[in-house]
Amino acid sequence: MRYISTRGQAPELSFEEAMMTGLARDGGLYVPKDIPTLTAAEIAGMAGDSYEEIAYKVMRPFIGETFTDAEFRQLIAAAYAGFGHAARAPLVQLGPNHFLLELFHGPTLAFKDFAMQLIGQMMQAALARSGKRITIVGATSGDTGSAAIEAFRGLSNVDVFILFPHGRVSEVQRRQMTTPAEANVHALAVDGDFDDCQAALKDMFNDFAFRDEVGLAGVNSINWGRVLAQVVYYFSSAVSLGAPHRKVSFTVPTGNFGDIFAGFIARQMGLPIERLVIATNLNDILHRTLETGIQKKEGVTPSISPSMDIQVSSNFERALFYAYGRDGATVAAQMADLSAKGAFTVSQGAIDWLRAEFASGRASEEETLATIAAQRSASGEILCPHSAVGVKVAEGFLSDVPMITLATAHPAKFPDAVERASGIRPPLPPRMADLYDRPERVTRVANDLAALQTLIRERRSR
Ligand SMILES: *Cc1c(COP(=O)(O)O)cnc(C)c1O
Repeated sequence: MRYISTRGQAPELSFEEAMMTGLARDGGLYVPKDIPTLTAAEIAGMAGDSYEEIAYKVMRPFIGETFTDAEFRQLIAAAYAGFGHAARAPLVQLGPNHFLLELFHGPTLAFKDFAMQLIGQMMQAALARSGKRITIVGATSGDTGSAAIEAFRGLSNVDVFILFPHGRVSEVQRRQMTTPAEANVHALAVDGDFDDCQAALKDMFNDFAFRDEVGLAGVNSINWGRVLAQVVYYFSSAVSLGAPHRKVSFTVPTGNFGDIFAGFIARQMGLPIERLVIATNLNDILHRTLETGIQKKEGVTPSISPSMDIQVSSNFERALFYAYGRDGATVAAQMADLSAKGAFTVSQGAIDWLRAEFASGRASEEETLATIAAQRSASGEILCPHSAVGVKVAEGFLSDVPMITLATAHPAKFPDAVERASGIRPPLPPRMADLYDRPERVTRVANDLAALQTLIRERRSR
């Protein structure tokens, strides 16, 4: 299995190389050269399997020679052992033909654990073999950072540095980053906003001398390894509702287009998915792109679903690549327009393709709060604000085909918004109830590239 760049100018890589590299050298994102397919009989054979067994069957064809069958099974087992639910991704019913896929039973209570826990195991195994060390640096508005720290804490060949905007993440999110005691974990509170953190990260990756010196690696949502791990729960949930004999639809609260792109891969692999619905909050760049055919950056407005507050949807480039019939040069030209002019216009053929593959909708803040309140009384389910955006948008697409809405975080991660909407302050699950009592360890840093680089050089282990 080989991987190619969406911009067509970078070398082909193996799975291991694509995972370790993240961004391609031509600025593009890696995608599989050919997407493997599963037969209807193979999909039907997943009925009743454990989550881990389905994970193995879905991902094995993408891994190539990177791990043996036995190694890969062990990595999957280790990745999901720490989840707080035997089903890993349980499905609950909200109403007639509407189901909620709970993706928040991992160690940091958000769906990012599904990918991050596995990529942590896979990177560690690859590094142990090569004897190399890496320094993971990530920028976060909340959930990515805690998921990365939880996945890499205590691993012997990795240091993990997470930049987050000082004072702008929720208390639960901050504590999840600052309370792990392992020496290879470094939480850095930057005097700036999320865009400053992301800009600093990008500058570090563009500083090739620094990149080589510290063995810089990224685990943000463009990493192919993360997308791949997210394909699995589309299969596990669809099969439990009768796929491949019966079609299902999905609604996905999305920002960076990572999670919904995994659904597209599941469909390409042969899973009969009727509709893939993009759900956005008021930062609706993706919904507007589908409606108008123009992708145009606007300012980010802070919302009660902060993990979807984005201005640049990085994984959308992967969808564009397929929309343009895998023409890397055209994708590169559109991305150049986006950075130079803040906008690009999708061609008629490509927008027709996108509209055939994806539907979309947006939920306002008021609708999100009202949905949390309504579901509390209708189904008893307490939704986090991101999941509520999904449920609200999904309600516009209900039909006799079962709809599965992805619940991306546990309500206890966003207790203020949930309490405002429903009157209930959701408690943390018992296994992390002492989060508020654990000592915090964090370094406050200026928004200054040179200072950050010095700190990383000094702190990382050798
Ligand atoms: C990251 C995140 C999202 C958005 O996921 P993308 O893959 O970036 O589209 C939605 N909800 C929650 C809770 C998240 O943490």
